[in-house]
Amino acid sequence: MKFSSKQFVASVKEKNSYEPEFIQAVEEFVGSLEDFLNKNPVYLENKILERLVEPERVIIFRVPWVDDKGETQINRGFRVQFNSTLGPYKGGLRFHPTVNLSVLKFLGFEQIFKNSLTGLPLGGGKGGSDFDPHDKSDAEVMRFTQSFMTELYRHIGADTDIPAGDIGVGAREIGYMFGQYKRLKNEFTGVLTGKGVLWGGSNIRSEATGYGLVYFVEQMLRHSGEEIKGKTVLVSGSGNVAQYAVEKAIQLGAKVLTMSDSEGTIYDKDGITEEKLDYIKNLKNVRRGRIKDYAEKYSAEYLEGKNPWSVKADIALPCATQNEISKADAQALVDNGIFLVGEGANMPSSLEAVDIFRSNKIIFAPGKASNAGGVAVSGLEMSQNSMRLQWTREEVDDNLQKIMKEIHAKAVEYSKDKDRIDYITGANIAGFKRVADSMIAQGLV
Ligand code: GLU
Repeated sequence: MKFSSKQFVASVKEKNSYEPEFIQAVEEFVGSLEDFLNKNPVYLENKILERLVEPERVIIFRVPWVDDKGETQINRGFRVQFNSTLGPYKGGLRFHPTVNLSVLKFLGFEQIFKNSLTGLPLGGGKGGSDFDPHDKSDAEVMRFTQSFMTELYRHIGADTDIPAGDIGVGAREIGYMFGQYKRLKNEFTGVLTGKGVLWGGSNIRSEATGYGLVYFVEQMLRHSGEEIKGKTVLVSGSGNVAQYAVEKAIQLGAKVLTMSDSEGTIYDKDGITEEKLDYIKNLKNVRRGRIKDYAEKYSAEYLEGKNPWSVKADIALPCATQNEISKADAQALVDNGIFLVGEGANMPSSLEAVDIFRSNKIIFAPGKASNAGGVAVSGLEMSQNSMRLQWTREEVDDNLQKIMKEIHAKAVEYSKDKDRIDYITGANIAGFKRVADSMIAQGLV
């Protein structure tokens, strides 16, 4: 039996023809696994891939709520419980108008292998809603999240499924959802991660995805005899991941030139300082404003309606959303001398962009390896909740650094080429192997 990734992707396409993002994630994954699977037929005989692409369970539900004008609003809620081989389903909730089943299946699928790479006991899941918290009042967000949780609560639990944040779901949303869960169940348990540090959250959870990304990039640089100090960096996005990636990059001596939001990019030739970053944190997390204000305040260039990928720099850290780097963007990055790309978002590079990075020998980290720090610290939050204690910032940060280092080592171990590490293949095989061996051990369930 010879495995052909093309044939396999064709069968997934046939069954899920309306799910382009999910098909893209599967295509990227199985393409890199072809050689490995043909050398290890046990996974083919056990139909592991066929089993992996079917979520164990998908829940879709109505979320009715009343806006500030007294009008009834209806949104759609989802939870994709993809794979529970390594632990309870674990993964974020995304609230964004673009959320649909395809997006959540791609995210849930990626999450299985990302969580496997952390080495922690975490299954894979994802959920969310097409609700847009962006232009809503606090009261509207509270009414929506309470209604959302009033259905979701019966499907989740500290030993079953532990959601967290993602795009559009931050401290405010997690707080309201936790409050509603606690009220409905009359239980204070670690059912969500990303909780406030005052009430069961972990230190460093907010910072974890961005810090983890930079720790991973440091490992990649070290592996090729380089360091981050003195390098120029492009960051996209200005949410949680971007903010803390910028913070850590600055702390380690890099010069960050850009950040962005859905309306445009700020290009600060002098570099974003810690003080300027505080302004962005306040702008985005408290005032919920547009990044354009930064350009006015600090006399930086504003690239209206543009992403950062046309700016000249050494390193690119896409931290906004899926498919934010098109083929043309990837070519522009290569032409401008970028030598390393580290994905902070989930699948920010299109398949064509990845091909361009590969053929130009760009050092490239796929999100499921380089952004795994967030869910890793979520896993540590679950451990702390089970023990009913809280570790210090230093303890959690040490653990995070160790986990990112181990993920890097695993990707290197499974890379075909040892001189120029193929992080995509390395991470995919390492992530897959742990799940697949465990699925075989647990029988046909
Ligand atoms: N949404 C994040 C991710 O993409 C974090 C998930 C979590 O902490 O459960 O990995």
